[in-house]
Amino acid sequence: MADAKPTILVTGGAGYIGSHAVLALQQAGYGVVVLDNLVYGHRELVEEVLKTELVIGDTGDRQLLSNLFASHDIAAVMHFAAYAYVGESVATPAKYYRNNVLGTLTLLEAMLEADIKTFVFSSTCATYGIPKTVPIPEDHPQHPINPYGATKLMVERILLDFDAAYNFRSVFFRYFNAAGADPLGRIGEDHNPETHLIPLVLQTALGRRSAVSVFGTDYPTPDGTCIRDYIHVSDLATAHVLGLEYLLKGGKTDVFNLGNGNGFSVKEVIETAQRVTGRSITVVEGDRRPGDPPALVGSGDKARTVLGWQPQYADLEQIITHAWNWHQRRHG
Ligand code: UDP
Repeated sequence: MADAKPTILVTGGAGYIGSHAVLALQQAGYGVVVLDNLVYGHRELVEEVLKTELVIGDTGDRQLLSNLFASHDIAAVMHFAAYAYVGESVATPAKYYRNNVLGTLTLLEAMLEADIKTFVFSSTCATYGIPKTVPIPEDHPQHPINPYGATKLMVERILLDFDAAYNFRSVFFRYFNAAGADPLGRIGEDHNPETHLIPLVLQTALGRRSAVSVFGTDYPTPDGTCIRDYIHVSDLATAHVLGLEYLLKGGKTDVFNLGNGNGFSVKEVIETAQRVTGRSITVVEGDRRPGDPPALVGSGDKARTVLGWQPQYADLEQIITHAWNWHQRRHG
């Protein structure tokens, strides 16, 4: 009989990207324990859909973490637990630095204490700030323009220092715009409050909102609206499993962008959603949102070459179709 695969702690596993990573880990045969404070995560998702152990608590709770690592045989940690609203991070930076930086540092210290030194970190393209070259390569300078991006960059720096001092190995994934939903419809995107473009557009298509606002039409882009690289959440999840396996096989600390290399403007996203849903979507043109760079597009070439990552759902129409199926099932 083949050896059973080890157990992975997934922080933030009750959230959008974390829950898709739990599914991908389970499909690959790993045991999973989820740690989530349920501020934004969904209890029933872990207990009823993912059917895995849920520990409720904060990454900043050192005692809880010490107990968790003492009572479970955890081989590695995938760390998704973080606040991730750009606008909120501009308005309430202290909340972001406390949770995203101090919470993560506490988690890392508890891992060291338990001699667990394998870490997959959910970072972000927001660490780059306003890019000088597009698609953005991993070695592009990092000058975040909002506190959210700054918190993630600080953790990257902590991880590099931990590697040098403690041989603590990690992979950081800088994602572009996570979107879509599990192709089989088991889980999807369910933020409260919802601030992300694609779910807001789809909620408008469903009649749950009267209109969607376009945040800024005077950006230096072809149609004046912001350009983003939308990446399917299941492709992100697969990359995390590959990153974990790379580390478990002895790979060294490294960083990978996860993007499709194709940018779409806010207007293009709305047009595509209109096509996919067959519904008319009322659009209101509004002011820019603070903290938004004009264009963020990333190359996933390094992840393809080093990790063997092969995105399955790179097409925007397919991404929106999966999201639409999920929204209809949930709220239609
Ligand atoms: N956006 C928008 N209207 C909305 C929400 C978002 O025009 O109601 C824009 C936002 O300014 C950005 C893009 O859509 O340029 C993607 O934003 P989202 O919040 O989905 O992801 P982010 O880029 O902040 O990670």
